[in-house]
Amino acid sequence: MGNRLEWSAEELARMPISRGAAIAAGSRYFFNGNPCVRGHVTARTAAEGKCLDCFRAQRRDAMRRQRAKPKDPFKQVPPIVEHGLTRSVAMMLYIAAKNRARKKGVQFSIHVTDIHIPDRCPVFGTPLDQTGGGARTNERGPT
Ligand SMILES: [Zn+2]
Repeated sequence: MGNRLEWSAEELARMPISRGAAIAAGSRYFFNGNPCVRGHVTARTAAEGKCLDCFRAQRRDAMRRQRAKPKDPFKQVPPIVEHGLTRSVAMMLYIAAKNRARKKGVQFSIHVTDIHIPDRCPVFGTPLDQTGGGARTNERGPT
């Protein structure tokens, strides 16, 4: 669906001519031929009586402001990935690293699936216990 923000003259002419008429007709837009406060002559929303050219300009400005802003890496909502690692050691390491990064104000861009824990300790060759607890609580826990 999405909002249509451009209409031909014929489409505008077919629109209800007032908010009341638009609401009565179940139309989202109306067009009365009068310019808005900024001089646009286009459809307005039935819900707010807002000129759609103004609406569009506002949205464009908002997008521009958004783009001009430095990105806050912690505001970005990562896509939900089914990694099957919930409550796993990799997830715990990931969360701990993320919290450290946040405290230090460091950009944090890795994902839990970037953490690969080998089955065996690369130094001692002992099998790593991934059932829970890091090295602090579990002698054979991965760090
Ligand atoms: Zn306008």
